[in-house]
Amino acid sequence: MNKPAELKKLEIEMLADKKLPLKTNLVFGEGSPNTQVLFIGEAPGADEDRQKRPFVGRSGQLLRKNIRLLGWKEEDVYITNIVKRRPPENRDPSPDEIESYKPYLARQIEIINPKIIVALGRFSMNYFLPTAKITRDQGKLFKYEKWFVVPVLHPAAALRGNEMMKMFEESFKKLPAIIEKCGELTEEDKNEKIKIKKEPEEKIEQAKLF
Ligand code: URA
Repeated sequence: MNKPAELKKLEIEMLADKKLPLKTNLVFGEGSPNTQVLFIGEAPGADEDRQKRPFVGRSGQLLRKNIRLLGWKEEDVYITNIVKRRPPENRDPSPDEIESYKPYLARQIEIINPKIIVALGRFSMNYFLPTAKITRDQGKLFKYEKWFVVPVLHPAAALRGNEMMKMFEESFKKLPAIIEKCGELTEEDKNEKIKIKKEPEEKIEQAKLF
């Protein structure tokens, strides 16, 4: 599959879709379509709207710094949001807005097909894991459809205090090991040896690795 061409096609389709809610600039996402790691935030803010790029404001600087601290290059990962236009006055995206953008996000994930999805913050996490709780479940590994998902605190939350910053940084440092494990798990999965524990009351599957 020609991933860059498929993503471009999707972006053009989104731009032409007049039924999508919110009328600010489209912030489609950026990075390598061949990445192993897809970071998904909530929705663009004012800086992102102005530059039409995800995570370029204050919380974006923190996200990008932590990506670089792992020895990764920003351009080697992919960064996007659940809702791809800025809600007015930075309010939370509404369930309707999330639902409207969902088919496009689903196709974007399908095209990129990363090894892991890092869900930044509560909204992104709950898109994949509706009953998960961010402070309880951040830094853990879950399975959503055919993808592994690691919820991590939103960088804006990390900026609110030392405790949260520590949690954010600690979870971030685990990412390379998680990716490696996922590689092994994918192999094992083929041999039906995968140890994913079902949590029926939660309706989510947590991979018991950490
Ligand atoms: N917060 C987000 O969730 N996404 C951005 O792109 C910027 C800030």
